[in-house]
Amino acid sequence: MVPGISGSDVGKKVSLSEMSRTITFPHSYGLGSGGCILERSVHRQGFLERLEAGEVIIGDGGMVFALEKRGYTKAGCWTPEVSVEHPEALRQIHREFLRAGATVMQAFTFYASEDKLENRGNKPAISCWQVNEAACDIAHEVAAEGDALVAGGVSQTPTYLSNKSEADVKAIFQKQLDVFVKMNVDFVIAEYFEHVQEAEWAIQVLKTSNKPVAATLCIGPEGDLHGVSAAECAIRLVRAGAQVVGVNCHFDPETSLTAIRLMKEGLESAGLKAHLMCQPLGYHTPDCNKQGFIDLPEFPFALEPRLASRWDIQHYAREAYKLGVRYIGGCCGFEAYHIRAIAEELAVERGFLPDGSAKHGSWGAGLAMHTKPWVRARAQKEYWEKLQPASGRPYSTSCSKPTAWGVTQGHKDLTQQKECTTDEQLKQLFQRQQMVS
Ligand SMILES: [Zn+2]
Repeated sequence: MVPGISGSDVGKKVSLSEMSRTITFPHSYGLGSGGCILERSVHRQGFLERLEAGEVIIGDGGMVFALEKRGYTKAGCWTPEVSVEHPEALRQIHREFLRAGATVMQAFTFYASEDKLENRGNKPAISCWQVNEAACDIAHEVAAEGDALVAGGVSQTPTYLSNKSEADVKAIFQKQLDVFVKMNVDFVIAEYFEHVQEAEWAIQVLKTSNKPVAATLCIGPEGDLHGVSAAECAIRLVRAGAQVVGVNCHFDPETSLTAIRLMKEGLESAGLKAHLMCQPLGYHTPDCNKQGFIDLPEFPFALEPRLASRWDIQHYAREAYKLGVRYIGGCCGFEAYHIRAIAEELAVERGFLPDGSAKHGSWGAGLAMHTKPWVRARAQKEYWEKLQPASGRPYSTSCSKPTAWGVTQGHKDLTQQKECTTDEQLKQLFQRQQMVS
């Protein structure tokens, strides 16, 4: 926690006598002409240098989910043409994450591979190159407004799911990497892989750029969907050349950290070193099976009752830090205020609060100004830390039964098609769903 820090401290140095540290806001939001002198935290180091120096890198949140809710990406295909169609919407999301304290502006290139852009009848008139180039351009623009690094990322491909060759899959990754090199991103990420084999192929392609490579799998403690353990996955990612490894998406913060603990132990037993990275869901998913939240019946349109509070995320940030994770961010469900919660929890370690905290007040401190005295009584850490929030849904159970069709890469059912799913195909799927559930 950060005792005594609140929005009213904007622009002031705030001494934490018991910790002998000083916290400042990096920018000058809300200062009048008589504003206090600020110490802007300036970093000019690169990605790996920051990690080597022990700096906490804060990632951003879940772009695709956030933009879907705002009407700019489409659930189902989840592809990111928004970078070309509505750059202003993407720019605004980046700015919110930057203001919340994110160190990385990850270009919105998730599922921006050529095969995914064409998949399931989703054939934008916009090319793979255009989508990736525009995303990098916007990320650079916003990163320059603060102190952020720019990353480009590749993710799992329909080509791999359809059992195509290693050369075919690698050619897909190469097309995105060509853009990242031209746009000179600071580092590259291989993220959201369900199978470590595909992630290895991605890393091998990304390494040819000579840029630092981070790699995350969307796995939990049970390992990847081909049955490779979490520990073995970490070992294989590092041996493929990733300098930063971990997990993203598919599982809640607690489950994700359990997976990372296993990965860390695997690396230690193999005598390998890597920085650790965690970008979990912003949802509570203790009932997930091996496939993660996409098997939950609420995925993707009714997950809201599972949403993590800002206080849950502060707890996650602290636990991640204690585990040795130094790249801490979020994925689907993570909004800017969740990223701010990470920045506030780790403000002492980082030496500053983000601009977004100017209108917050750590641990509810801002409520000291509330009209009602019983709400003012909530302006304390102890209150929010102990609260068990109600869902407000009297007929809702706390957990669900995952769907669990149990098929993955190598199974014919996962062969991807470029045409839209037909009505007849959908009818068969509806019938099968009834039989399984
Ligand atoms: Zn996600």
